[in-house]
Amino acid sequence: MTVDRIPGWDHVYSGKVRDLYADDGRLLFVASDRISAFDWVLPTPIPDKGRILTQVSLWWFDQLRDIVDNHVVSTDVPAQVAGRALLCERLEMLPVECVVRGFLSGSGWVDYQATGSVCGVALPGGLQESQELPEPIFTPATKADIGEHDENIDFDRVVSLIGRERADAIRDLSLRIYDRARGLAADRGLILADTKFEFGVRPDGTIVLADEVLTPDSSRYWDVDTWAVGSAPPSYDKQFVRDWLRWESGWDPASDSPPPPLPPEVVARTRAKYVQAYETLTGKDFV
Ligand code: ATP
Ligand code: MG
Repeated sequence: MTVDRIPGWDHVYSGKVRDLYADDGRLLFVASDRISAFDWVLPTPIPDKGRILTQVSLWWFDQLRDIVDNHVVSTDVPAQVAGRALLCERLEMLPVECVVRGFLSGSGWVDYQATGSVCGVALPGGLQESQELPEPIFTPATKADIGEHDENIDFDRVVSLIGRERADAIRDLSLRIYDRARGLAADRGLILADTKFEFGVRPDGTIVLADEVLTPDSSRYWDVDTWAVGSAPPSYDKQFVRDWLRWESGWDPASDSPPPPLPPEVVARTRAKYVQAYETLTGKDFV
């Protein structure tokens, strides 16, 4: 994985997709073109992915402005990361992944089949995969260490991690943000099945929406046309990559060996899906 050197900034952290740099008090939040699938970072980047997802996040932060403050300070960033980086406030991050689900899918569906509930939230019996829930639910997870899976937790666990007041606050904010976002997505023919937020705290105690927000990397979007109860709709952005890796590449996702490079047509089709996500959501052309 190559990480940019950015003069004047200290590299402080790299996740699978993002690289973080800091100078005193500020954070430079850089989205790379790396793509992950089956918990691997693939050896082939998707051109413009970082730029597209940064612009998607920015657009969403704007739509949510009246609900919650966000960590963005400016888009005036070093030229070498222009368009795919945001200058942000460096916050004390709350150690909870704030997942909201409006539909039953992924680990929520797995949980439900085993226990009839998701993260301790009891649900009616007889729900099917991808079915819309009676109302959206807050299903938090712990932030796992690098290489570990996030672990679903119940609300009491959130309270014991960060206290009742903050736990209530991030649950309420998460549900309000999801509600707004799902409506805006629906107006554009997209189902926002579930999504994940991260919040941080300012020195004065204000809770602030941080990280990326409502990107295809942090959210499960479905085209309304491909959604059918009782099945798993294709992933909006990564379906070509997953299908190729699983069925055509000869690579076994369950093996310990790294995935192979992606062929150009898989890269092109995947890039087109990210462009489409940006254009569908924002109503603007991606240039
Ligand atoms: P993964 O690759 O599985 O997503 P990750 O979440 O650790 O792992 P990234 O998402 O690439 O990796 O990294 C972003 C990191 O930045 C996260 O740890 C997130 O909590 C942190 N972060 C986001 N916004 C802020 C902020 N304003 N101040 C401080 N840290 C932040
Ligand atoms: Mg992350």
